[in-house]
Amino acid sequence: MAHLTDQEIASKASIQPIQEIAEKAGIPEDALEMYGKYKAKVDINQLEGNKEDSKIVLVSAMNPTPAGEGKSTVTVGLSDAFNKIGKKVMVALREPSLGPVMGVKGGATGGGHAQVLPMEEINLHFNGDLHAITAANNALSAFIDNHIHQGNALNVDPRRVTWKRVIDMNDRALRQVVVGLGGPTRGVPREDGFDITVASEIMAVLCLSNDIIDLKEKLAKIVFGYTYDKKPVTVGELEVEGALALLLKEAIKPNLVQTMEGTPALIHGGPFANIAHGCNSIIATNTARQLADIVVTECGFGSDLGGEKFMDIKARMGGFKPDAIVLVATIRALKMNGGVAKADLGEANVDALKEGVVNLGKHIENARKFGVEPVIALNDFVTDTDEERNFVLDWCKEQGVRVALTQVWEKGGEGGVDLANEVLAAVEAGNDFHHLYEDELPIADKIEKIVTEVYGGDGVILTDKAKKQIADIEANGWGNFPVCMAKTQYSLSDDPKKLGRPTGFNVTVREVIAKAGAGFVVALTGDIMTMPGLPKVPSAVKMDVNADGSSTGLF
Ligand code: ADP
Repeated sequence: MAHLTDQEIASKASIQPIQEIAEKAGIPEDALEMYGKYKAKVDINQLEGNKEDSKIVLVSAMNPTPAGEGKSTVTVGLSDAFNKIGKKVMVALREPSLGPVMGVKGGATGGGHAQVLPMEEINLHFNGDLHAITAANNALSAFIDNHIHQGNALNVDPRRVTWKRVIDMNDRALRQVVVGLGGPTRGVPREDGFDITVASEIMAVLCLSNDIIDLKEKLAKIVFGYTYDKKPVTVGELEVEGALALLLKEAIKPNLVQTMEGTPALIHGGPFANIAHGCNSIIATNTARQLADIVVTECGFGSDLGGEKFMDIKARMGGFKPDAIVLVATIRALKMNGGVAKADLGEANVDALKEGVVNLGKHIENARKFGVEPVIALNDFVTDTDEERNFVLDWCKEQGVRVALTQVWEKGGEGGVDLANEVLAAVEAGNDFHHLYEDELPIADKIEKIVTEVYGGDGVILTDKAKKQIADIEANGWGNFPVCMAKTQYSLSDDPKKLGRPTGFNVTVREVIAKAGAGFVVALTGDIMTMPGLPKVPSAVKMDVNADGSSTGLF
């Protein structure tokens, strides 16, 4: 029998009015701002409650296949499982970007019987946060170009404007553009380019702010370029941080929706984890902590990317720690890491599993590097064989690591009860969480530490450009910032083809850029790009809308 698609399963699910979900979550009516029947924003100023006793369960993963390994699915299913066993739980997720929705990876609302609703609206535009971020980002571009055109009192060098325009789409044709063409009435010509919205520093700032005033202060610190004598110029000097914060005043409120089993879910902020810091907003996580005893939250891609950034950037800035870490593994990703071609992942192959399981081994080691014993969620596919399942379950037991076969995609919360119990035991056991590095460590040493300890590499090669940028960053007083690595999600190394657990490699850092508003430094490795492209046959070609406004072909 052919399986129903995620969208077909979601469309058959019953959905409750959002007021009922809010009531269940303990959100007072005054704090609820309705966006239709099934979505709302939450005014955090109207909430009371202590967040210190709540437990944070972080869902991370091994290195994925291009289709994703079901991290969002397990995050949603695990929260439903907690709900099922009577825990007061909330799930906090990132917002989908239209780039992957229209491209290849798909949405970010989970899958099978572990999804958030209404999946179609969340995946397409949602409550407009990404559009607001795009508007604020591009308003800043317009203010910069206007400033240069109107006499350039700040002495901005048009060749050194680092701020780019953004659009929420994979659009490679916009990576490099020239603006201001057409003569003196059309501005000052300069080279510009577009990033995808989720890579905007404004997205990072929104996700790392504690409230609107903090947001405004961070916006003021954004460096958008340099003067002719190479001094950084900030948004504060342009005097537009108030206007930008104003454009974001609704976007900063977390969005309340529900899982298919009626668990309250906050979905807010959506930076990718390969080119940005990869976690939902601190505001959403803290709001969930105020409201629930357990918060299940995910971070993008593997423990080498979103996991490391959750612990070294988000947890540091948010002042919290993970009480448990779940690592999602799949038999298909283990086989791929064992050298099996994408087309053959459907075939049983225990030998390949034996080869590929070293990848999971490194992610277990990574969680331990932060002082946390992970719990493995073996995200079960109906096509997996018992022999394969048993191999992975036995291997985990041999490693002395907690593991649970997780069937939330097929069965919803019921299929995640074993995992929930393992996670509770891990929370109960406590941990010795610590960051990988201290603020004071020099930038180059921070990068070295991430590469050698988390990626398992021999060391870092800094290009001359990167060395110079690091020297400038430290001279500007930003040396204490944490590092946000931009790296391929497919490999622990900077080469997407090196699968399994590569050793004997160096990671080349070609550029290091300070994001003074967000408060981190981005290190670009490999050929990772802040504006992705679409694949030859984008998912968009399967999508359609009907006369009654319903849609098909989302995923
Ligand atoms: P990630 O968050 O790791 O990117 P998702 O949770 O978004 O992954 O899942 C990616 C896709 O894989 C979704 O379409 C989902 O339905 C599908 N998927 C996830 N888990 C399973 C599973 N156990 N069986 C079948 N399909 C699954």
